[in-house]
Formats: sequence, structure tokens, C-alpha cells
Amino acid sequence: MAAFLERPRTVEEALTCKAVRPDARFLAGGASLIAMRNAGLVVPDGYIALEGIEELHGIMQSPDGGLRIGAMTRHRLCAASASLTGSLELVRQAARQIANPPVRNMGTIGGSLANADPGADYPAALSAADAEVEIAAAEGRRRLGLADFFLDWYETALGEDELLTAILLPAPQAGPSAYRKLARVSGDYATASCAVVLDQDGGLRAAIGGCGPAPLRSTEAETAIRGRLHDAAAIADLGRALVDLADPIDDVRGSAAYRRLLIPRLLASTLAHLLRQEQAA
Ligand code: FAD
Repeated sequence: MAAFLERPRTVEEALTCKAVRPDARFLAGGASLIAMRNAGLVVPDGYIALEGIEELHGIMQSPDGGLRIGAMTRHRLCAASASLTGSLELVRQAARQIANPPVRNMGTIGGSLANADPGADYPAALSAADAEVEIAAAEGRRRLGLADFFLDWYETALGEDELLTAILLPAPQAGPSAYRKLARVSGDYATASCAVVLDQDGGLRAAIGGCGPAPLRSTEAETAIRGRLHDAAAIADLGRALVDLADPIDDVRGSAAYRRLLIPRLLASTLAHLLRQEQAA
């Protein structure tokens, strides 16, 4: 039997389609879903295409000065967005480092988060940016911080009947911020990645990707390093705290032991890069 394709025009229609056809899958860019379908890893009986839902597209300013990135916003658009500056520049940098131009043209930020690949680029960047996600269900909408969104390997808090509608970012501050990844070759998923935002009060927010099912962050260790960003011992303490949170695996991109070694090094080099940038400004 041929798979069906529904084309809802609103979030509410998409949720109704899912309620009527629970075995169908939401289709964003198809970058991952169609590849998984072709490999026989998923066999949905149909698709609910999100392309025609206008509210899911684009980057808009929220009334509080923050940004709302619609779930269907392509990586290409995030990579080129002039709104993602200062403390949010790292989101633009993450988008630029995803795969290659064809994947950046197809793939969406909502699809990337829903897919929850631990080597993906957005999760660490959005975690350091203090992003939240907006999730729609028949009963209404809810907001979740990323620490509550990523539950386990390839598992999120999204229910079967829920749709990720947007990524919500706080108003951009001066920053600076940076996202760096170490990958086997340009365009590959990260072996490990690091995202750092400097604030104006001598503090930072730092997240590590690729070293566990979810981005690693320690707000306690971040507080301890406040005012000591030039102190190598303090930076090493933060690195150790992040290694303690890590739960890396051995895979084709690197061993768990190698990933643990990378965490403090990526952190120190990303931070040094930002401090130089701050000094030069
Ligand atoms: P789809 O493939 O359409 O969907 C993915 C999954 O999410 C499906 O289960 C779908 O049902 C679900 N879904 C999609 N949108 C929603 C929503 N709004 N609400 C609820 N569920 C939803 N990513 C990186 O970060 N870095 C890389 O280096 C990288 N390299 C890649 C290389 C290749 C060759 C490919 C094919 C992909 C790569 N990716 C990489 C992944 C890419 O970023 C995809 O965009 C991402 O995985 C999601 O794809 P998509 O938006 O097309 O979603």
C-alpha cells in the first residue's frame, strides 16, 4: 500500500491529522527521515508534511526582545540570519557547520532537535544560549528548557501526538559567543563540540555536545568560574565538571576515552578564542 501524504495548513490541522493517523510521521525537510526510511530503519504508513504551515517558518522577534525560530526554519536561513548576533552568534555558527549546502537547504532546526542526534550541532549551541522549545498538543502549548527536552539517546520529551513548533531564545546580549566542533572531516557530525557565551559580568555559559545523549552543562561550575575566566585552574575545574557529566560512547567518530580528553581542550580553546575576540573589540 502506498504511503499517504497529508498537507495541513495549520498546527491544529497537523495535530488532528496525527490523532487520526497515529502511525504517520511528521515530515520536516526529510533530510533524516527519508534517509532512515530508505534504509528501512523506520517504516511509517504515511507522512504529515509540515511545509505548508506558515507559522512554523522564519525567525521573528518576540515582544520581550527574544527571538522565535519556527521549527521549519531551514539551517540555511539560520546560518545567514543577521538576528543571530552577540550572545546568539553561536547558533548561526552551529547552523553554518551542519553537513553541506544540500543538507542545510533541506534540514530544519525543529527536525534536528526532534531527531536528537547526539552529534548534531544545534543542541550544544542552543543549550549555551539558554534556549527553550515550544511544543504543541491538542490540549495546548508548553515550553521546556533543553535540559528537560533531551531525555536519552535519540529520545526527547516530545509525545507521539505532539509537534515541536518553535525554538525560543532570550534577547541577544553583547556576548561574544562561539560554537566549535571537532569532526573527522568537514561536514561530518561532531565527534565532540563546544558552545560558549560570555556575559558582561565576567561569567559564561558553556555546553558540550557529542559526549552523551544530551548537551552537557553545569550551572554550578559556571557560577564557580565567574570573574576567573583568565585563570587556567578555574577553566580546568569547569572542564573537569563537564567531563564528570559526560556519558560518551565508542563509535566510528572516536572512542569514549578520546571524547573525554577532548572536552577540556575544546572548552579551553573556545574560551581563549572568545577572550581574544573580547580584547580585540
Ligand atoms: P526530518 O528528516 O523531516 O525529520 C526528522 C525526525 O524529526 C522525524 O522523526 C520527524 O517525524 C521528526 N520531526 C521533524 N520535525 C518535527 C517537528 N516540528 N515536531 C515533531 N517532530 C518532528 N546534522 C547536524 O547537526 N550536523 C551535521 O553535521 C549533520 N550532517 C548530516 C549529514 C547528512 C548526509 C544528513 C542526511 C543529515 C545530517 N544532519 C546533520 C542532520 C540534518 O541536520 C537534518 O536536518 C536533521 O537531522 C533533521 O532533518 P529534517 O529537518 O529534514 O527533519
